[in-house]
Amino acid sequence: MLRFVSFYHFMMTLLFMLAGVGAALCAESKPFTVVIDAGHGGHDHGALGKLTVEKEINLAVATRLGRLISAGMPDAEVVYTRDDDTFITLQGRCDVANKAHGDIFVSIHTNSVDTKSPNRATVSGASVYTLGLQRAGTNLDVAMRENSVMKLEDDYSTTYCGFDPQVAESYIIFELAQSGYIDNSIRLAGAIQRELHETAGRRDQGVRQAPFWVLVRTSMPAVLVELDFICNPEVERFLASAEGRDRLAKAIYNGISKYRGLIPDKPVPEKRRTKADKIKENPPAHVPAPAADDMIVYKVQFLTSPRKLASGDARLKNIPLSDCYRDGGIWKYTAGNCESLSDAQKLLREIRKRYSDAFVIKMRGGVRIN
Ligand SMILES: [Zn+2]
Repeated sequence: MLRFVSFYHFMMTLLFMLAGVGAALCAESKPFTVVIDAGHGGHDHGALGKLTVEKEINLAVATRLGRLISAGMPDAEVVYTRDDDTFITLQGRCDVANKAHGDIFVSIHTNSVDTKSPNRATVSGASVYTLGLQRAGTNLDVAMRENSVMKLEDDYSTTYCGFDPQVAESYIIFELAQSGYIDNSIRLAGAIQRELHETAGRRDQGVRQAPFWVLVRTSMPAVLVELDFICNPEVERFLASAEGRDRLAKAIYNGISKYRGLIPDKPVPEKRRTKADKIKENPPAHVPAPAADDMIVYKVQFLTSPRKLASGDARLKNIPLSDCYRDGGIWKYTAGNCESLSDAQKLLREIRKRYSDAFVIKMRGGVRIN
């Protein structure tokens, strides 16, 4: 009997331990959270058309996109900043995204030009924006118009720290934000932009940079999509149609799938390559070339953290080509970007002087493989 009780206790203890490990593993695997932000809403109509208004198009495409993700990406979770016709402040949208610890933020808008603009009835095309100031140029107009929504809030000056969306000099505060996410934001923007052209048949206005508030205050890769121009009557008919909205949502969905590596992406055609792409392809001679997305590379993993470390963190100091990837909600930090295992092993010997547990991993397209 005693033997039986001991065995019973042993088995139960073992079961509880296994259950505990299982629970811990489950707790680690966080869904891929897509925050979908339908621009405008409520008393903020956005750009006006003859058949419809911007807020309505944005919401229709956003909810279609959410449904596609829920049906097609079992490991993903959709978080909406709004799923009905309500007014949400720009900062409120960022708060929703940050609270949800989103993996990506996709803001959906519809473009327009000034009523006095001579090309108002003919302008067309989709563009996807990432945060940026240096190359903003004329895109600043688009950001100023979208950001001016904050003036609909009673206390906007306090909420936005005195920032005035209509004064160009105000935008200097935007320069440093998002720096840790810019590469992934550009990659996501490129994937969606190509799909808007190929799947939704939109004229390609290219990936652009501009200082949108919702891209500044979201702590994740973030893009703002301008679907097309509501002021062009022919385009507006497309934007107002169920078929048009389905195609636009499908295009964004495909772009996200390609960003995640769920479906293969084609190389960026030469004419659409951004300056950032070109720098990556032709780096200065002293910087080893980063690997192409489909190439296998070896890196030395030396550190993990539940939170993303600041780029100036002492633990990352003097680490050659330090990089990180997210795995099961944990940030994993790597050194090097070697084409051969032997180069990685040489680097490992160096890194182990500081991080004795470091080891070599194999990666493809930013994902660890066995
Ligand atoms: Zn808008």
